[in-house]
Amino acid sequence: MTVPAADQGRPTYSVVVPVYNEEGNVEALVDRVVPVMEEVGAPFEILFVDDGSKDATPKLLRKLAEADARVRVVRFSRNYGQEAAVEALYLNARGRWLIQMDGDLQNPPEEIPKLLAKKEEGYDVVYGIREGRQDSLFRVAASRGMQWSMKNLMEIELPDDVSTFRLMSGPVARLVAALPERRKFFSALLVWSGARIGTVGVGHAARQAGTTKYNFGKLLNHTFDLVVGFSSKPLRYLGTMGFFFASAGFLLGAWTIVRKLVWGYGALGWSSIFAAVVVLSGVQLMALSVIGEYIARIYVQAQSRPLYNIAERLNFKDDEGHQPFDELQRRSLEEAS
Ligand code: UDP
Ligand code: MG
Repeated sequence: MTVPAADQGRPTYSVVVPVYNEEGNVEALVDRVVPVMEEVGAPFEILFVDDGSKDATPKLLRKLAEADARVRVVRFSRNYGQEAAVEALYLNARGRWLIQMDGDLQNPPEEIPKLLAKKEEGYDVVYGIREGRQDSLFRVAASRGMQWSMKNLMEIELPDDVSTFRLMSGPVARLVAALPERRKFFSALLVWSGARIGTVGVGHAARQAGTTKYNFGKLLNHTFDLVVGFSSKPLRYLGTMGFFFASAGFLLGAWTIVRKLVWGYGALGWSSIFAAVVVLSGVQLMALSVIGEYIARIYVQAQSRPLYNIAERLNFKDDEGHQPFDELQRRSLEEAS
């Protein structure tokens, strides 16, 4: 097979890993990924995005990058969140194929060959489906909720229980990462892109060291974000709810008139009026807040601030990689001098 000019010098595979406070895991991760990828035999790199870790992770990554030029690192100036880290991974990876995994060894590197084998059937994206998932009950419940919303509210058809352990063709990953929207849900965007998506069962392990970076509140927020970010259905539901309340009000009014005409009594029930007022103002506040969510997103999008700031890059050549602040930094340096 001939390699297109643009791909020359690119490794075949980039193993891409977002890490945030994973000091107990990064060395073991490299130790386990390297032999697997060497066995695969094609040129590869391991790209970490350090999402502003406050523990020894940056130091360990520096050591790993010094020892092995195939280990490349992008370090954020602070914690920007996993989605931002993933975007930076996709934009900075050089591989013709990207293999994404978590930094806590929940995705066993030994399972990578299964993803690679599946792609031979002609897929652009291969998802690892967790077999024997090792997560807390609430964590699993949260993913289920997210998947339910994707399917039912957003009408995005995803295979059940997909994880972030996946293989993507470089062009597809770069395409979704370069989309101008700020809140990116990559699993949904990969479906949007029309990529051919395959799945394969992979093992799942408990987190090797440290604790999960997600709690219930964060996951709830995430799901809400996902729904609002991908669908305007909540707005339509508000309309339906308004219609429902208006109809109920109309019927009640009609009933009051009939009652007055037929039986001769009109005003009844101060407490029912009070209840109606409280319920309806509650509904109105809710509606306003949902509309507010959409407006807030428009606002954030309009600001179009880059998603992250990169503090340091290791094992990058000068002209390599995607730097959201290049232009800004150049200008501020010019002004300073
Ligand atoms: N992560 C990150 N930034 C964050 C939170 C998490 O880069 O703000 C990384 C984390 O280091 C890990 C991956 O995202 O490699 C998944 O996180 P975690 O294992 O905590 O989530 P869970 O397995 O519970 O979904
Ligand atoms: Mg984990």
